[in-house]
Amino acid sequence: MSRIYNFNPGPATLPLPVLERAGRELTDYRQKGMSILEMSHRSPEYSQVHKEAMELFKKLQGVPKNFKLLFLGGGTTLQFSMVPLNLLHGGKSCDYVLSGAWAKKAYADARKVGKVNVVFDGEADNYASLPEPDELRPDPRAAYLHMTSNETIGGIQWRDWPETGGVPIVCDMSSDILSRRLPVDKFGIIYAGAQKNLGPSGVTVVAIRDDILDRCAEDLTAYLSYRTHAKKDSLYNTPPVFAVYLMKLTLEWVEENGGIQAAERWARERSALVYDAIDESDGFYKSPVLEKNRSKMNVVFRLGSEELEARFIQAAADQGMGGLKGHRSVGGCRASMYNAMPIEGARALSDFMRAFAKKNG
Ligand SMILES: *Cc1c(COP(=O)(O)O)cnc(C)c1O
Repeated sequence: MSRIYNFNPGPATLPLPVLERAGRELTDYRQKGMSILEMSHRSPEYSQVHKEAMELFKKLQGVPKNFKLLFLGGGTTLQFSMVPLNLLHGGKSCDYVLSGAWAKKAYADARKVGKVNVVFDGEADNYASLPEPDELRPDPRAAYLHMTSNETIGGIQWRDWPETGGVPIVCDMSSDILSRRLPVDKFGIIYAGAQKNLGPSGVTVVAIRDDILDRCAEDLTAYLSYRTHAKKDSLYNTPPVFAVYLMKLTLEWVEENGGIQAAERWARERSALVYDAIDESDGFYKSPVLEKNRSKMNVVFRLGSEELEARFIQAAADQGMGGLKGHRSVGGCRASMYNAMPIEGARALSDFMRAFAKKNG
């Protein structure tokens, strides 16, 4: 059996050693005569996995002590509700940056909860660029400013963060978490579904600063309240045990391979290989996004026609490179390259793109 270079946007490729280890441990976890899938979430074995995953994530991403880490279900999408439900009360309003498809989904849910102002909307530009961070002027009384660090579908990514005074930044980092060093203390809440850069689907990591936790609504039903999960170390109810376990193995793999510094370098090198193939193709491939806002995780590009794009995607698949179709809402092509994508995968794609352009240009 041979594995392909898997450019899927999420769920996405996982490190082979992680899958192999999970396979070995699947039927008998540490001589307990059962799988971790079959154990109590209160067992010492699972408790250790849970705790180690939290500590390792904090260490790798540099999350300061005054943040609480939560492991939740419901995908990133549940956070689109939980954020406003917890923070938008007492007559407050909040501010959203509409940078693309995911930001708009977050905004649509927040509007059902309370008053939401838009501080930037990329619609006129077809969500192909971002403003400078200091052009964002949140209302000083806003409960929070919501951002999306990397638009997975549109292929744009923030480099720097705005100075917001006392307004906490809440950021959806689903598709670039753990891909670079971050000034975590600039944020009030960071949230990310695991299935792009951290592991499999099923668990969402939420880092929430203590003072923001103290501001959260107190009248919510149990699961929707950050307070519930913070108080119980994300063991209020059954957590997604297998997803947390696989995430822990993935985090260990990142640490063994050089940690966040290495991840940052991988992202830079992989994306440069593919952007170079685009830029040096004499217009055969076109990147629709502004150069300074290009994502290092999701490289979006177009060819001359939809017919040519379909042929490109098929020819790549024939050579063992999958998942290159753009999101169904925008078409085109997209190479998603998260931590587990080896540099060889990006090089193979870049070489293939040059050869395909030469043959069909
Ligand atoms: C994938 C993704 C989501 C959606 O995640 P779900 O876990 O499917 O809800 C939200 N935001 C961003 C930036 C994403 O990349």
